[in-house]
Amino acid sequence: MSALDPAGEGAPRDLYDVAVVGAGPGGMTAAIYASRARLSTVVLERNTAGGIMAVTERIENYPGFPEGITGFELAEKMKQQAGQFGADLREITGVLALEQRDDGAWRVTTDDDTLTARAVILSPGVEARKLGVPGEAEFMGRGVSYCATCDGPLYRDKEVVVIGGGNAAVEEGMFLARFATTVHVVHRRDELRATAIAQERAFSQPNMHFIWNGRVRRIVGETKVEAVDYDDVLDGSAHTLPVSGVFFYVGQLPQTEFLRGLVELDEGGYIVTDTHLRTSRPGLFACGDARAGLIKQIANAVGEGALAAIEAERYLDALDFAARQAGASTETSLRRDTWTQ
Ligand code: NAP
Repeated sequence: MSALDPAGEGAPRDLYDVAVVGAGPGGMTAAIYASRARLSTVVLERNTAGGIMAVTERIENYPGFPEGITGFELAEKMKQQAGQFGADLREITGVLALEQRDDGAWRVTTDDDTLTARAVILSPGVEARKLGVPGEAEFMGRGVSYCATCDGPLYRDKEVVVIGGGNAAVEEGMFLARFATTVHVVHRRDELRATAIAQERAFSQPNMHFIWNGRVRRIVGETKVEAVDYDDVLDGSAHTLPVSGVFFYVGQLPQTEFLRGLVELDEGGYIVTDTHLRTSRPGLFACGDARAGLIKQIANAVGEGALAAIEAERYLDALDFAARQAGASTETSLRRDTWTQ
């Protein structure tokens, strides 16, 4: 367990006003807003702070950083900012269950711990989708990767292939082009999904080579990746591309399995909310990449994180007001000012 609070003023506790599940840009912003509003706040994170943003090589479209900033650096700054207002960060293996108590608060059970929060902001984020072709799992870490930022430097003066045609494929392919002699991009159509500016840059990169209408069949090699077999979807011809590394960027999957049956999810597993970012259960809010309908941009996730925290605060204020109206005793109610342990 590690505290975000560098001054060590906010000692870890079991009862919180707000628990934030996931420390991507949405979750971190929710933590900044909630803790700054003097709500006791904990952030639960499986990996490093920043989520998928933390392994993004360069971010150029987040306001305030005209020179660009690495995802890791931006994540560190967000973490530091949340810590300044007293939020705790707990590194966990995973969230197992959320259960609403009779008093309305939520019990959050992780692999490591249990805690209770009056409101929970769900921002579990997404992970790279697997393509599911033969050799993909077998050569994971031996030539197959989902993170160019992490593994790109291992492929200096080698040939690699990127699978996919979205922003992630193109931008991370550009990063790989710094190291590799050639970056092949195999895309299943003849047109990229990535934005125009990303496409422009990629097309003018001399060591990027595009293979259109290619469907990857399998990854081949003895002990490590040696080649990729793919078919041309137009004429059905089979091809082999000799490469040392394969980077998959074929989309993302929301990390919401633990929410199945608890809150409404859409057909893709994304969390459904109303415009106040309320889920189908009272006291549970959602923001960030795992929320249905979000355009997957850091600036969006940050805006949603702020809104989710403000809505959670309103929700808690309404509960406190109702408790006061009902004349509940301060000893037995869940009023915020009684949560001092
Ligand atoms: P994405 O935009 O969903 O693109 C996934 C790519 O993988 C698409 O080109 C898709 O092909 C291809 N694909 C999907 N399933 C496939 C399959 N079974 N076989 C072969 N190819 C397959 O995912 P992403 O690039 O990871 O980006 C995710 C989100 O983050 C997007 O909203 C993106 O805009 C955002 N993002 C933004 C930035 C930025 O703004 N700088 C950077 C990175 C990511 P089709 O095109 O044919 O569907």
